[in-house]
This record gives sequence, C-alpha cells and structure tokens, in this order.
Amino acid sequence: MTIKIEKKIKGYQVVKPEDKAAPAAAAPEKKAAEPRQAEIIQMHESVERPESLVGSTFKIKSPLFEHALYVTINDIVLNAGTPHEQRRPFEIFINSKNMDHFQWIVALTRILSAVFRKGGDVTFIVEELKAVFDPRGGYFKAGGVYMPSIVAEIGAVIEQHMKNIGLIHDPEMDETQKKLIAEKRAAYEAASAGKKAAEVASSSESNASGFPPGATLCAKCNTQALVLMDGCQTCLNCGYSKCG
Ligand SMILES: [Zn+2]
Repeated sequence: MTIKIEKKIKGYQVVKPEDKAAPAAAAPEKKAAEPRQAEIIQMHESVERPESLVGSTFKIKSPLFEHALYVTINDIVLNAGTPHEQRRPFEIFINSKNMDHFQWIVALTRILSAVFRKGGDVTFIVEELKAVFDPRGGYFKAGGVYMPSIVAEIGAVIEQHMKNIGLIHDPEMDETQKKLIAEKRAAYEAASAGKKAAEVASSSESNASGFPPGATLCAKCNTQALVLMDGCQTCLNCGYSKCG
C-alpha cells in the first residue's frame, strides 16, 4: 500500500502492535460512553517536558578538580495525584567554573538525560558510572568512602537522588546485623584500648569516617572501615568479614 505524504514530516514513530489494537478497542467503548479508566502514563521518549520541573542540586568537591561541580537533576512527576504517581529523573545538568572537561561533561549529561527520557529501568546507570576508575587514582570522601573517579562520584550523586525520590531502595540493614556490627566494634575498641594503655603516646584519633585509625578499605562497601579482629579482616561499616 502506498500513501502519499503531502504534509511536512515533523516527527515519526514506529507503530507497535498495541497501538493497532488500541483504536479498535477504544471505538466501541466511546460509543457506549462508558467512563474510561484513567491511563497510567509511563515514561517514554515522547513524554513532553512540562514548563516547570522539580529538582535538586548536589555539590561535588574533588581533589581532582580545582573547582566544585554542581550537579542538577530535574524530575518529572507522572500521574500526579493518582495512586500511580511516580517521580522520575528527566534531565541532568552539570555546572562548574572549570572548563577543562567541558565537552565530556556536556556529552555525559546529554546522554544521561536521553537515558532518563527513554523510560524503563534507568537505575542501571548508577552502577555503570560508579564502576569508572580514574587511572590517576581516586580519592576519599568525608566518611571514608572511596571514590574511584569523578565520574563515579557523579554516579553516587545520581544514586543518592534516586534514593531520595524512591526509585532506589536501600537494602535495609536488619536489627540483628546492626547489633552484630556494634558488638564487633565494641570488641575491637576494647581490645585496642588495652594496647593503647601501653603506648600512651600513640594518637587515639579515628580517621575521617570515625572508624579506627589504620582501618583499610572494605571492598564491599568502599569504606575505610576494615580492621583485623581475631586474625580476620572485618568491616565495621557493613559487617563484611573475610571469614564469613
Ligand atoms: Zn564494608
């Protein structure tokens, strides 16, 4: 079948099987004048940007960058006021006084925004970004969390934002696990207090995170909280233990 297009083409979309089925299904419904159920809007490419969006701005300060980065993530609220209300990231901007990395940052934000607008599960980008390593080496954040690169920190910021809007849920640490970590920590501190009595001159300062000095990086939670207890590497942050 040939159709002559006489109007200017402004955009196009591939017809999906459900689109073909929809008009047929909708027609008799209209005839009967039944109240149609409100459609649940899912995120997809042709959802138009509303005039205003709600968002958050995060500041990233890294020793790898002279100036701070400001990451702004704007969200769209779908199905507002219905039980299907959902807040989803719609676009991301990164601003900085530092222009050295300008073109890569612009490219990254455009691609990220495009991924957000595609719809579906967009949380995977967090892991993708957080896995990027800077060959010059990463840096430690306050709290003893290791950032392998500035891209990884952008990933961490997006993760935080997705947690804030309820797109990612923190695996809740159960009470028994919290108690176990607290017990391990108390035991470690008691043991090292005995040692400290002997070496009075030694500093009792903890590292930036509040974990004991000399704690090393835990591979599971990326926090400097790994200590040696009873000959076993144990994380005082997430409870990871080499000995199970
Ligand atoms: Zn850990």
